[in-house]
Amino acid sequence: EGEDWEPVDTTSLGRATWTFLHTLAANYPKKPTAVEKTRMMLFMAHFSDLYPCEVCQSGLKDIVTKTPPEVESNKTFTRWMCKVHNGVNEHLGKELFDCSKVDERWGVCESCKVYREDLNAFKNLI
Ligand code: FAD
Repeated sequence: EGEDWEPVDTTSLGRATWTFLHTLAANYPKKPTAVEKTRMMLFMAHFSDLYPCEVCQSGLKDIVTKTPPEVESNKTFTRWMCKVHNGVNEHLGKELFDCSKVDERWGVCESCKVYREDLNAFKNLI
């Protein structure tokens, strides 16, 4: 067993999940199509049903039901995600985050991008 095989708990799962959710929001299109909007609404509905943390679930489901995902644009969705996170922060007695700083804190993942040439090379292989 490696030394980094720490058991998962609400804290480590939460931190990793917020990284994923805010990065997902940062990558959401500025002008999403109807299909992209629906897909994100459905994703968040399924996500709140399936998030594997029982103590987190009731609060999360509550927030997503009361304030449905604002999927109109990148701006509304990143702000909505920030509000959801602040809802959890409040519930846990943590400091609230200034949502005007959300684009500074979370951005697109540069190393996640596939460069056009790599993509073409990959296409030639398959
Ligand atoms: P985190 O809250 O994990 O945040 C990580 C980083 O995000 C912060 O360091 C900060 O830079 C940034 N950040 C903070 N707030 C915001 C914001 N509003 N918008 C954008 N960026 C922000 N834990 C429980 O014990 N009980 C629960 O009921 C619970 N519910 C959760 C529900 C969900 C959907 C998720 C994803 C997690 C939940 N957690 C819950 C875990 C909890 O939210 C934290 O992730 C965990 O306590 C670790 O906190 P942290 O201080 O490392 O920062």
